[in-house]
Formats: sequence, structure tokens, C-alpha cells
Amino acid sequence: MQRVRRPQPQAFDRVLSSMCTVPHPEAHEEAVRFLAANPGDPATYETVAELEREAVDLLGEIAGLDSALGYIASGGTEANIQAARAARNRAETRAPNIVAPESAHFSLTKAAEVLGMELRTVPVDADYRADLDAVAAAVDADTALVVGVAGTTEYGRVDPIPELTAIAHDAGARMHVDASWGGFVLPFTDHSWSFADAPIDSMAIDPHKFGQAPVPAGGFLARDRATLDALAVDTPYLETTSQATLTGTRSGAGVAGALAAMEALWPDGYRESYRDQQANADYLARAFSTRGIETVDPELPLVAASLSPSTFDALREAGWRISRTASGELRIVCMPHVTREALEAFVSDLDRVRS
Ligand SMILES: *Cc1c(COP(=O)(O)O)cnc(C)c1O
Repeated sequence: MQRVRRPQPQAFDRVLSSMCTVPHPEAHEEAVRFLAANPGDPATYETVAELEREAVDLLGEIAGLDSALGYIASGGTEANIQAARAARNRAETRAPNIVAPESAHFSLTKAAEVLGMELRTVPVDADYRADLDAVAAAVDADTALVVGVAGTTEYGRVDPIPELTAIAHDAGARMHVDASWGGFVLPFTDHSWSFADAPIDSMAIDPHKFGQAPVPAGGFLARDRATLDALAVDTPYLETTSQATLTGTRSGAGVAGALAAMEALWPDGYRESYRDQQANADYLARAFSTRGIETVDPELPLVAASLSPSTFDALREAGWRISRTASGELRIVCMPHVTREALEAFVSDLDRVRS
């Protein structure tokens, strides 16, 4: 039968709000080749299972962890749920809680709901980072997990990870770092965020964001075998005996795409993307500031600025894919597909709609 309608996927040229981007061409190609392989059944699909081990090794290298344990997840949401699940399963309390800054991603709300845990969100400081005193006051003997964000979704801030880790471990809790977005830019900065910087227990780090892998490719990393053991369930009808992932059948596209992207881009390609996009974010922040628009300093390639609702709407009307923070600021994520020309066109539209 002839297909009468074949919609085109949306182009990325006006997308300024997304944490996804155009995949690297080799990653795209490898994802297509492994589309039907199921890494959830490694005894049947051995090749993709081997690729997954290589992908986890490389992710570990990026995140400062030798002999990394973990797997390619569906995204940061799954990795965060799994970190909470492992911590809950290892905790000795019957009423386990999670302590996280209010800047933490909404996937932790899902994690707490699904796992029957209490989520305690604590305030951030004046620069949008987890407030250490507030975190210390919120943890107690029932705390199973403390979460720090390395590259927050709204302002690109990095929480004080070593200090949070000390608070977590003093309370007998595990420490999880959510580097879902930041993990592929932070290696080129001076921030303390990784397994090498603090004795953290687990991390979420998404190849399908700044890693330039096709969706779905998240990463869950753990330092110790005990974390993965806490997630493993028996798998009666498979030839392997246990499975630590949350999903069962998964597409090999995520695994093969993530590995190909990292092999092509780590470290030089990622460093170049980071430098280009940090320069783009700085350009945009300057453009806003010189126009008298209040702007949050872009510490990572993510800019937030206060625009009136009518200006925001007019820019959306002009075709720009832009979004807002919870407090209503314009939020622009400088992902690898964002060009300086696009930002210049955006700024000239901004001038047009404001005049
Ligand atoms: C994007 C993001 C997530 C969620 O990841 P998905 O891949 O969308 O599931 C979690 N945490 C942070 C900090 C993120 O930026």
C-alpha cells in the first residue's frame, strides 16, 4: 500500500530549548544497524552485550571511574530511579527517604512515588546550588540516598559534590550524582563532580544529551558491585541468571549509538563542542545584558534570562523553540547543534519583537 502521508521530523535549526541534539553521523549509522538487537538478553545477543561493556568502560573513563559497573539506560530518568532503588534496597530502614536540592530533576519525584520513598527537597543558595546546611539538617537515620546535581536542568549549576558526599556517608546513606546533562561538558571544566573527585556511589550520565548519541541512551554507573547486586532480579526464561536494568527488552540502538558517539568524540570532539557552546552561551548572555535584560551567569552552556511573557510569546510565534524555568525565565540550552548564526538571528528577532 502506498503511504500518502510521510511527516518530516522537525528540524533542529530553531530548537533552543532541548537537551537533545543531532546525533553524530556514525552514532546514527550504528544505532540503525543494531536497532533490533536486544541487550536485555545478552546470552542471545552477545555482540551488543559486548558493545555495552565497552560503552560502560568509556562512560567510566569520562566520569573518572576505573572498572566502571553499570549499563546503558533509557535515560536520566531511569538512571535516577535505579540509584534510588539500589539505595532503598540496601538501606536498613523501613521508611527510607531521599534528600535532594529543589533544583533536582522531576524524575526524582517519579522515583520516590514508584519506590514508596519520601522525597525531601531542600532549598538552594543564592547561586542555585544545594545549600549544605539545609541538606545536613534534612538527613537522618532513615536517609537512604542524597542526590547532588552536576549541571542542573534550569541553570546549569554544579552542587558541592564532595561536601554532599561527606554528609551522605556520615549519615550512612549513599551518594548519587545526577550528571545526566552535565556529564559530557564537565570533564573540560574545573568543577568537582565525578567519581575521581569524591567517593560517590552512583551517577546518571546521558549519552543522548551532550554526548550526541541517538535517543534512547542514558547511562547508569556504579562504583561497587553491591549497588548492582541490589538491583539484580532472577530471570528464569533467559540464559543469563539475573538482570539489573529497570526495562526488560531494550533497543540495541541505544547501546551501539552511545558507543559510536563516544568513540568518535571523546575527548577532542566533546571538548570542541563544549568550547563552542560555552562561547555561544557567553555571547547570548552578553547580548541580553547589554539590552538591560536580567541574565543568570552561564556557568555551563545554558542561559536563563528574564523576558516579559509577551516577548517570550512573540519569539515562540516567530518559530523559536524556547522554554521557561519554573520561575518564568527564558531558558536556552546551547546544545551542539546550536550555531552562532542561529543565535544572531534569534537576537535580531528579539530586537524586532521588543521594539
Ligand atoms: C534530562 C535530565 C534528566 C532526565 O533525563 P531523561 O534522559 O530525560 O530521562 C535527569 N536529570 C537531569 C539533570 C537532566 O538534565
